[in-house]
Parts: sequence; C-alpha cells; structure tokens
Amino acid sequence: MTGYRGRFAPSPTGPLHFGSLVAAVGSYLDARCQGGEWLLRMEDVDTPRNVPGAADDILRTLEAFGFEWDGPVLWQSQRLDAYAAALEHLRQAGLAYPCVCSRKEITDSAMRPAVDGGPAYPGICRAGLPSGRAARAWRLRVTDEETAFVDRLQGRQAQCLESDVGDFVLRRADGLFAYQLAVVVDDTWQGVTDIVRGADLLASTPRQIWLQRCLGYPQLRYAHLPVAANAAGEKLSKQTRAPALDSNRAAAELLRALRFLGQPAPAELASSRPAEVWTWARQHWDFAALPRQGSIALANQADNGR
Ligand code: GLU
Repeated sequence: MTGYRGRFAPSPTGPLHFGSLVAAVGSYLDARCQGGEWLLRMEDVDTPRNVPGAADDILRTLEAFGFEWDGPVLWQSQRLDAYAAALEHLRQAGLAYPCVCSRKEITDSAMRPAVDGGPAYPGICRAGLPSGRAARAWRLRVTDEETAFVDRLQGRQAQCLESDVGDFVLRRADGLFAYQLAVVVDDTWQGVTDIVRGADLLASTPRQIWLQRCLGYPQLRYAHLPVAANAAGEKLSKQTRAPALDSNRAAAELLRALRFLGQPAPAELASSRPAEVWTWARQHWDFAALPRQGSIALANQADNGR
C-alpha cells in the first residue's frame, strides 16, 4: 500500500451509464496502478432523487464489470449524525448561519450568476435573520479571496467563492444535508487521498476545498476526467436519457471506456471477458495519455450510447 486511497461515489438516481463507467474506470485504475485502495460510497443522501432499486442495480453492475472495492460500501444515509456534527462545528465557529431566503428572493436580489447555474447567493441573511421569519437552510460563509488548486488533468483552477458562488448551502430548506457537506465529511472520514471524477464536478471543488479548510481537514488531490457528452454536447445523464450499461456487454463497454480515456486497448478485447480487459488495463494504464478537455462528444454513438 502506498497510502493512496481513491473512491467511486455514485448517486442511486438511476442505473449506471457510460459516463459513470468512465469515472469508475478512471478512478479505479489510477488507484490500483499506484498500489492504492479503492472504496465505494453510495451517495443516497438526496432522498427525493433516489430511485428504488437503483443502488442494488449499481452494485450488481459494478460487480459484473469486474470492479473490486475495498471494505464495505459506505451509505450516506447512515451518516447523518456525522453531517450534523460537522454542521454544528461550523455553526459554533461562526462559519455557518441560518437563512430564510426563498429561491425567488435570491433570484430577485442576486447581482450575478453562480459558476454552475442559478444566482450567486448575495448574502441576504449573513448579518442575521429578518425578524419574524423562520430559518429554512444553513449556509457556509465564504470570502472574496481566491480559492485555488492544481488539478492533475485540468491544471490550475481558481474561484472567488463570494462572487462565483456566494455563501453556499450545507443543509437545505427541506432538512436534507447538501452534497457539498456530505462529500467532504465522508472523503476525509474514509481517509480518501485522491479524487478522480468527472469534470462536471470541477466547479464544485473550490467549495469542497473551502469546506475542508473550515473543518480543519487536509486538502485532497484531484483529477477531473472529461465527461462523455452526446452529439448535442449534453453530458450523458438520466436527464439526457443516457442508456443503462448492459452487463452482457461488459468487456466491450470497458474497452470503450478505456479508449475514451486515451488508452489504446486492442479491439480484440471486446469479445473477451472483463478480467482480461482489466489485465490489459492494469498493465498499460498511462495517466499521461488521459485527455484533458472538460468534455468529449461521443461521435456517432450519441443516441444509443454504444
Ligand atoms: N455522487 C456524485 C455523482 O454521482 C459524485 C460525487 C463525487 O464524485 O464527488 O455525481
């Protein structure tokens, strides 16, 4: 063991598709080829988005594709006490504050858009709650300093959290803990050192680094892989109706994911078993060959994802 610990953290909002496979393959091979561990975490904290049966389906698919994770799966739905404790710590440190604002109030008074859509929170409740109104959400105070990091693939990234995002939500108005808080608490609690995931999460990373600093956690290493997009340039997702991975075609899909990741896996592997694809992949994995764009369209494959 080298002290490297990676992870794959799917949300059970539907079956795995080719885009999720790319992230799983990238994080798995980066971990294994550095003698590292690879953990699996089910991000089922956003309960309204969970789809019944999806988590089991994801686990079965990963098994059929030959992924081998270390230790038991961590379920975020079992971790609510840890998120509550982190929020309490931030509250006591004066870093988290309650907020009454509705979406409309924020939109009406926002000065600028946030990096990943929606308005940047203009700090309405920073100085205290307006009288007579009950808190809905909890937010984390950010600053106007630059929060920067060097991504192993995408290079230097920087945001001014105050203008690019605004004080962001840790606990939502519906009482659920936000992805940003859960992911940071769990990555550190699980001893993760390296995050390899899709570039759709690149814009979230400065928030996660800021949270790590506020909680006194170490900063992790990041590599953001290009996301797979359809011909219209849309990220493959449930919303864009990306087809579910077919476990009967596991070797062929793994081969396709390797090629997407710039690894010249031989075409004959498509008709082999997943174990043989993994043997090739572990022997030939070349981090330097990974593409560095934010997204890559799957030419001529968009509609059926094949
Ligand atoms: N659960 C997130 C997703 O499925 C990924 C979180 C992460 O890798 O940080 O998009």
